[in-house]
Amino acid sequence: MKITADYHVHSNFSGDSQASMDEMIQKAISLGLTHICFTDHMDYDYPKQYLGSARSFEFNVDKYFKHIEKMQEKYKEIKVLAGIELGVRPYLADKLNNLVEGYPFDFVIASSHLVEDFDPYFPDYWEYYNNDPNLGIMKYFDSIIENIQVFHNFDTYGHLDYIIRYVPNKSFTYDPKLYWEQIERLLLTLVELNKGIEVNTAGLKYGLPFAHPKVEILKKFIELGGSYITIGSDGHKPEHLAFDFNKEADILKNMGIQQYAIFEKRKPFFVQID
Ligand SMILES: [Zn+2]
Ligand SMILES: [Zn+2]
Repeated sequence: MKITADYHVHSNFSGDSQASMDEMIQKAISLGLTHICFTDHMDYDYPKQYLGSARSFEFNVDKYFKHIEKMQEKYKEIKVLAGIELGVRPYLADKLNNLVEGYPFDFVIASSHLVEDFDPYFPDYWEYYNNDPNLGIMKYFDSIIENIQVFHNFDTYGHLDYIIRYVPNKSFTYDPKLYWEQIERLLLTLVELNKGIEVNTAGLKYGLPFAHPKVEILKKFIELGGSYITIGSDGHKPEHLAFDFNKEADILKNMGIQQYAIFEKRKPFFVQID
């Protein structure tokens, strides 16, 4: 494995995963990973009508830490870390800040899962924007900018352009240049805040020819002086762990990216891509 740390992993502490931490860790060990960072979902006020088969997108943080400590004692051959994936919305900034300050997290991903009260995973999001994919995507990037203007207590921004997976129009082709003004603004803000962006290989898992975000966005981030990237599979099942990490390692090296960041107690360390 050319990338040996997976820093975006869900377990059954997330409402949309059935996988125990044990299963995920054992799979990670079998793949030869040196680090696995759990980043379970905390999406406050997630609209009930969207929950479907998911139980909830909030979890008991005390229990989470207790369980991770147990895992750390049980598995000495891999480093198990306690992260979190926050569903950010501007009005939640204080609440999220208190959560992050209240526990010894190793790593914090900020993600956009909702714009206003709509989840782009569902058709009503797109209907709200007249089924205009470009408008829906632009609003999503706008909302990321709004989030990072008011909330700063995170280490990396998750799956920047994952919204494009959910565009209902099948003939749609994604060209980041159409939203370049928004994208540049959000990247610049992240650079100024000294935050990273995440390379999320779930894009490849969904059959897209690229991870999130698309290469030109990643290139722009580096060009603007972005100091680090983090890498995660966003796996919700053991078989999704480290998904296409070898393929992604080659893509990153071809772009001139030689290293990625891992975190412990919110401090970055850099690891070379083999
Ligand atoms: Zn997410
Ligand atoms: Zn996730």
